Amino acid sequence: MKLGNPKNTIEVIQKYDFDFQKKFGQNFLIDERVLEKIISAAEVNKDDFVLEIGPGIGTMTQYLAENAREVMAVEIDKNLIPILSDTLSAYDNVSILNADILKVEIVEEKNGGKPAKVVANLPYYITTPIIMGLFESHVPIDSITVMVQKEVADRMQSGPGTKDYGALSLAVQYYAEPYVVANVPPNCFMPRPKVGSAVIRLTKYKDAPIKVTNEKLLFQLIRASFNQRRKTLQNGIKNFGGLNFSKEQVAQALEEMELPASVRGEALTLEQFAQLSNILDR
Ligand code: SAM
Repeated sequence: MKLGNPKNTIEVIQKYDFDFQKKFGQNFLIDERVLEKIISAAEVNKDDFVLEIGPGIGTMTQYLAENAREVMAVEIDKNLIPILSDTLSAYDNVSILNADILKVEIVEEKNGGKPAKVVANLPYYITTPIIMGLFESHVPIDSITVMVQKEVADRMQSGPGTKDYGALSLAVQYYAEPYVVANVPPNCFMPRPKVGSAVIRLTKYKDAPIKVTNEKLLFQLIRASFNQRRKTLQNGIKNFGGLNFSKEQVAQALEEMELPASVRGEALTLEQFAQLSNILDR
């Protein structure tokens, strides 16, 4: 049965007497146009190995299976596994793993070294750890095209001087180029989420455009700067556990960068954070 509309979704839910689990962020897509938009933004084709996070009852998985060479879908809720065997029975290029995406080790050899595409309607309660985990893992990834909370999509693509700019913006933009594909209203899901959603594509850089001598330090500095947003950068860094720089050392670095001593983290671009990190790493 082709999923992606309210009628067939209800039929599957009723057939299996499925109870939605709020704690797993279960909001299933019921809008074909949105599903088509996601597949087209992800540019899924018959060469691709696709990793889907949280297939639910298999709605997007069907679309992915039609378009990709191979799909691997990781679903935490064991009650969905028999449903998925049913709704995906027509496809021999899909494998389902019943696991927590934050705990599972995605194996690289699945795709013979070719970068995988990640496509998902993400569970919103763990959007950031999932995306950061994918970027930081050693699995080669081409792009991540995901449905997220609208507010989170805004944060991912914001620049300095805006209210949405923060540690997530910088982390995402260090690894990838973000592009918001579409805004998606609550009525495209069952049940309806309380928040607006957006599809965002993060195209991973093959070679990071920003070079740093110490990646760990860069991320610590970013976290320190936004940990206490109203503080100056100097105070934020001085008070951050794990970093051992005096106020004077930071002041000196800022002077070298021709930035005022009172500057706040939210005013710095990614390039400036990288420069600061490289100076402090010397
Ligand atoms: N892809 C389906 C769709 O679009 O209709 C369902 C999307 S729903 C927003 C999120 C899915 O992620 C649910 O099926 C949920 O059970 C699953 N999920 C939640 N936490 C997970 C985790 N830690 N690991 C794997 N899947 C998870």
